[in-house]
Amino acid sequence: MAEGKKTFDVVVVGAGIVGTACAWECVRARLKVAVIDRGPVGGGATGSGMGRIAASDGSDAQFALTNYSQKIWRELAADLPDDIEYEERGTLWIAADEEQMAAARRKKDSFAKRRIASQILDPAQLAEAEPNLRPGLGGALLVPIDGMIYPPCAALYFLERATGRGAKFLSGAEVTAVAPGEVTLRDGSKIAAGIVVVAAGKQSSHFCDGVPLQPCTGHLAITDRYPKFIRHQIIETGCPKNADEPAGASVQLNVQPRTTGQILIGSSRQPGIDGPDVDHEILGRMLARAREFLPALGSLSVVRVWTGRRAATPDNLPLIGPSLASDKIWLATGHDESGVTTSAGTARLLVDQLLKRKPAIPFEPYLPSRFAGGAKSHEAKSEASHG
Ligand SMILES: Cc1cc2nc3c(=O)[nH]c(=O)nc-3n(C[C@H](O)[C@H](O)[C@H](O)COP(=O)(O)OP(=O)(O)OC[C@H]3O[C@@H](n4cnc5c(N)ncnc54)[C@H](O)[C@@H]3O)c2cc1C
Repeated sequence: MAEGKKTFDVVVVGAGIVGTACAWECVRARLKVAVIDRGPVGGGATGSGMGRIAASDGSDAQFALTNYSQKIWRELAADLPDDIEYEERGTLWIAADEEQMAAARRKKDSFAKRRIASQILDPAQLAEAEPNLRPGLGGALLVPIDGMIYPPCAALYFLERATGRGAKFLSGAEVTAVAPGEVTLRDGSKIAAGIVVVAAGKQSSHFCDGVPLQPCTGHLAITDRYPKFIRHQIIETGCPKNADEPAGASVQLNVQPRTTGQILIGSSRQPGIDGPDVDHEILGRMLARAREFLPALGSLSVVRVWTGRRAATPDNLPLIGPSLASDKIWLATGHDESGVTTSAGTARLLVDQLLKRKPAIPFEPYLPSRFAGGAKSHEAKSEASHG
């Protein structure tokens, strides 16, 4: 594909949910924008994730961005087309034993401090809420406002809104190099822009030295249609102990009812693992974990399994702002397990910084410059989910 030299205010590399949300927010700010992707829109992690929209209480900065983003999604909800499948079914953080129940209560306190409503369910209330869960569970925490979407359609929605107001989309175009104010495509053509925004998911580090990004593979499976088998997103509270698993790999019950009646079954994390192959050992563990809590899942048909690769940073926070290399190369990447949720807030924070507008939340925790002196250690995560 030969594109001559053109000038844009912003060129976005990557048409995943983060890149397209950024493009749409730039267009809303009357910037002249181009978006480039080598593959289909939402064909990266966006097309292989779960699409839960929720605030996370892993750290104050994680909460600020996820909560801000969730509020934006809730504002957008009324105007979203049906194919995005936005629904607020709530998250049920279930507890198998007293240790997990204590974790659920801590989560309730943490949400209460942050003004997120939630409710402890006792075993009888839990059984009524989700009759297919096995008997004998300790209870659950219900967070009613949590939502879910179908992420690739959301990426397409942002992109179409942007192109409908003048943005240019270069499809099937692979970026081979990024320089201050310019990208080079595989065919050798160059596109000039005031700012290049690298939103290339796990590939982003190819374009920016010093960016501490690591792929983290996750597996998902989806069943045939079994409407009402589950009613909420169900996640086990606290990560299971993984002492016998290979370096850092873990599985966690995380199941989601789709509007189609299908059940999305997750999830797993394999830090440092890249590549599309299904790891049958991890997949087997993940499905077994889900069956431990939902025994009747074992009699349902799974119609597809796949993997996706999140882009993880050492402190579990995304990279939003000027890169270490140049103030003309910006990053919008590293969203790990919550990029569907945080795409909305990322786009606003990015454009706020670009235009020097006052942001709704501080953007400093997400600046790439926090890694200028090398990567810091992981922040503590409390009762996290494997989104
Ligand atoms: C199993 C799993 C479950 C998840 N569940 C959830 C969840 O429930 N909730 C949630 O909020 N998040 C979830 N996530 C995370 C979420 O999916 C990601 O954080 C998010 O999709 C990242 O979007 P992105 O736009 O940054 O990256 P991507 O979607 O990966 O997009 C990057 C794009 O860049 C393009 N690109 C790369 N290199 C080039 C190049 N050289 N030239 C041109 N184009 C290029 C790619 O083709 C791709 O389209 C999950 C992820 C996984 C894997």
